[in-house]
Amino acid sequence: MTLLKEPDQLQRLFQLRFIEGVTDREALARGLGVQKGSLKKYFRRLGRKVDVPHRGTLSYEAQVEKNKDFVCPECLEMTVKIVGVMRVCHKCGLELGRWELDQSLPFDSTYAPTSSMALGRSLGGTLPSNQVYRVLMKSPTGRTDIGLRARYINIVHESNETPTVKKLLEYGSGLLKNLGLEERHVFANIYADHLRKMGVYLEAKRIGRPHRYAHALLGHLITDMATEYEEVKAQLRYDDHESAFIKLWLRLDELANGEKGA
Ligand SMILES: [Zn+2]
Repeated sequence: MTLLKEPDQLQRLFQLRFIEGVTDREALARGLGVQKGSLKKYFRRLGRKVDVPHRGTLSYEAQVEKNKDFVCPECLEMTVKIVGVMRVCHKCGLELGRWELDQSLPFDSTYAPTSSMALGRSLGGTLPSNQVYRVLMKSPTGRTDIGLRARYINIVHESNETPTVKKLLEYGSGLLKNLGLEERHVFANIYADHLRKMGVYLEAKRIGRPHRYAHALLGHLITDMATEYEEVKAQLRYDDHESAFIKLWLRLDELANGEKGA
């Protein structure tokens, strides 16, 4: 287990406990790489770093919980301000997403993500913007300019994705997660790429129930490139019409990519 430096550990604690909502002590201790018994100490350090207003006998953990919307996960200070509808850290510039954004999906709930955490790790723009920085942390450049990069990504996605594309990406990443495919990053990226292009078309054609096409597309991609997941296809819901559409869509995309063919 790699030992994290303390500032990183406090960031990790904040992330696990207050962004991901992990309350299980064992899981928290494991996530930090420390003994369960020392968690209290870390919450105290975090509370002091954040400098939460003290309210009576509340624990440091509870104090941070109360104020978490105003804490920047990078700076670990209460530097988050509401600018328009966005939460922004005025110290490092990190954008933390819309204030009170409703993440609920208008599609049928069969595969809908149950929390914003279900939104795709590998699907870039579908990531709630307060989680973009977590992905950036994994990049080879690490923490360099992380606030700036997170901000840039959020701006790009906010401005480029149409409502249907956004919904499809959110929906698609929920599907991947529910079917156990979310760790298949290459597959997820190819899926997301198709959803983006197809979403624009479905929107322009005003085709109803676009999530059915997300199911059909996933079914076809599994057949093409992830046959070990063949059995999860039974959980996908699409009909012959949607299936035929996707077959042609995939062929059209090949042609558009300049592939010669049959
Ligand atoms: Zn900050």
